[in-house]
Amino acid sequence: MKASQFFVSTLKEAPADAEVVSHKLMMRAGMIKRIGAGIYNYMPMGLRVIRKVEAIIREEMTRAGAVELLMPVVQPAELWQETGRFDKMGPELMRVKDRHGRDFIIQPTSEEVMTDIARQELRSYKQLPKNFYHIQTKFRDERRPRFGVMRGREFTMKDAYSFDRDVAAATVSYQGMYAAYQRIFDRFGLQYRAVAADTGAIGGEISHEFQVIADTGEDAIVYCPTSDYAANIELAEGVALATERAAAAQALTKTATPGKSTCEEVAALLALPLAQTVKSLVLATDELNDKGEIIKSTVWLLLLRGDHDLNEVKAGKVDGLKAGFRFATVGEIEDHFGCKPGYLGPINLIKPVKVIADRTVAMMSDFVCGANQVDYHFTGANWGRDLPEPDLIADLRNVVVGDPSPDGKGVLAIQRGIEVGHVFLLGTKYSADMKATFLDENGKPQLMVMGCYGIGVTRILGAAIEQSHDERGIIWPDAIAPFSVVVCPIGMDRSEEVKAAAHKLHDDLQALGIDVLLDDRGERPGAMFADWELIGVPHRVVISDRGLKEGQVEYQGRRDAEASKLALVDVLAHLK
Ligand code: ATP
Ligand code: MG
Ligand code: MG
Ligand code: MG
Repeated sequence: MKASQFFVSTLKEAPADAEVVSHKLMMRAGMIKRIGAGIYNYMPMGLRVIRKVEAIIREEMTRAGAVELLMPVVQPAELWQETGRFDKMGPELMRVKDRHGRDFIIQPTSEEVMTDIARQELRSYKQLPKNFYHIQTKFRDERRPRFGVMRGREFTMKDAYSFDRDVAAATVSYQGMYAAYQRIFDRFGLQYRAVAADTGAIGGEISHEFQVIADTGEDAIVYCPTSDYAANIELAEGVALATERAAAAQALTKTATPGKSTCEEVAALLALPLAQTVKSLVLATDELNDKGEIIKSTVWLLLLRGDHDLNEVKAGKVDGLKAGFRFATVGEIEDHFGCKPGYLGPINLIKPVKVIADRTVAMMSDFVCGANQVDYHFTGANWGRDLPEPDLIADLRNVVVGDPSPDGKGVLAIQRGIEVGHVFLLGTKYSADMKATFLDENGKPQLMVMGCYGIGVTRILGAAIEQSHDERGIIWPDAIAPFSVVVCPIGMDRSEEVKAAAHKLHDDLQALGIDVLLDDRGERPGAMFADWELIGVPHRVVISDRGLKEGQVEYQGRRDAEASKLALVDVLAHLK
C-alpha cells in the first residue's frame, strides 16, 4: 500500500470532548470521526484495525466450531414482545416505528431473533449442539455515551449463541467459547483477565467477563495474585452483602409510603446513617396536588461530596453527578427542588449499598428505583462506573485489598479493567419464553439450553490503546496494527536510489504477506515520523541516500528508544 493512495489524516490536537487517552489518540490518528453522540464514522485507518480484530475473531470462532450467519439490525418488535424485553428493557433499547406504525427495534443484542431461528431450524437432538454467530452493528441508547468507541451508541459486536440438549452439554459449549476467547485475546496481544461476573439483565446461570487491564477502565476487578480467583467487584461485593441489603430493600418497599416517608425513614430502613457521612442516596421527590395525590414524581441521584456547596450545584457551577457525593439534608433538598423530599422506593436493589466504617460507598450498578408509579421509574442509576474518581477508587480498594480470597489461597487485590468480552450460560430463559424445543430420542419435546457470547469489536480498539500508548501516540500490538511496517524514504523526490530501494523493499515485504505501507507523500522526516508514531505502526524502516551508500537502513520498533542500523539485505529476515 502506498500512502499517497491511502488516506492519512492526522491532527495535532484532540477535540475538547475527548476525555480519555484512547479517544484522543483515535481522533488525532484519524481513525474515527464523530457525527453525533456515541456515533462515529470508522475512517480507513481505523477500519483496518477493526477488520484485523474481526479476522482473528472469525478464525477462532470457526476453529471452535461456530457457524457464521447475519441477523438484521432492524428487528420486528413481536419477537422482543415474546420475551417481554420490548417493554422491560428501558431506554437503552432503541424503538422505532415504520410507515405503517408498526414497532421495530434496532438490535442491542440478538437473543430473540436467534432463538426464533433455532426453534424453526433445530428440530431434533441430532442437530445439536449448534453455535451460530455474527459480527454486526449494535445500537444501545447509552445514558452517557463517551470515551469514543469504548462506549458508543452504535458499535460493532460479535455475538454468538449456542444451543444444546441439556445443561451438561451446554456447559461444554460454554467452556469451548471460554477457551476460544482466551485464544482470541492472546492473539490480540493484550493483557487481560477472565473474571467471574454478574449475569445482570441478560440473565442466566454462569457468566465471565473478559477484561482488558487498564488503569482507566470503568470496571474494578478483584483478584488473587496467588490463585485463579478473579471476579468483577460488583459480583464480589454483591455476594457479600446481597442478603443483608435485600432484606432492607424489602422492608423499604413494604413500608415506604408515596409522598410520606421521609429520607430519615428511608435511611433508617436502609440502615444508613443520615448525616454528613452518608454520601450518596437515590431520592424520589413527589409533587402533590391539593388532594394529596401525586402529580409528578422525580427521582434524584444525589452524589455530592462533603466539600461541595449545594448552592454551587444549584447555580450549575458544579455538576452534581460529577462532583462526588454528599447527602443533602432534608431542608436542602426541599429548598433545592421546591417540594418535599419523598421516599425511596420501591427499589430493586440489584446491587447493595456498602457501608465501610463511617463512609458509605454505594455500589449502584444499573439500579432500578423510583416512585411508585410506572412511568416515573428511573433505571440505570449507576454510581461505581460513572464516577471513577481516584479517591473513590481508593475507597473501594480499602474495602477488599488484603481480605482473604474466597478460595482460601491468598489475599485479594484490585485492578481496573475494560470489559471487552462476556460469556453467559443462559439456560432455558429464552427458549422457555419463545418455546424453542427439539425432539429427544424418545420423540419428546425438550427446551434447548442456551449460551450467549459477546465481544465488543470496536471497543477492543479503545481498550488496546488505553493499555498501550506513550506520549507520542498509539502502540498497536502487531496482530491488530493498521499496518505492520512503514517504509519511510527520505528525499525520494531527489534520489532515484532511495526511490528504487523504497519501492523494492515495499514490494518484497508485500510479497511476503507483510502488511506494509510506503510513505510516498513527500513529507519532511519529522512530520512523517510523528504521523506514524501517532498512528502506532509497530515497525519503521527509514531509507536515505546516506544509509544506502553503506548498504544500510534505519530500523526502529515503536517501543524502541532509538533507531538502529540494519543491513538492507537483512531487513526482510528481520521483519518476517
Ligand atoms: P457495559 O457493562 O460496558 O455496559 P455490557 O455488559 O452492557 O457492557 P454486554 O451486553 O455484555 O455489554 O455486551 C457484550 C460486549 O459488547 C461487552 O463486553 C462490550 O465489549 C461490548 N459493548 C457493550 N456496550 C458497548 C458500547 N456501548 N460500546 C461499545 N461496546 C460495547
Ligand atoms: Mg451496558
Ligand atoms: Mg457489563
Ligand atoms: Mg456485559
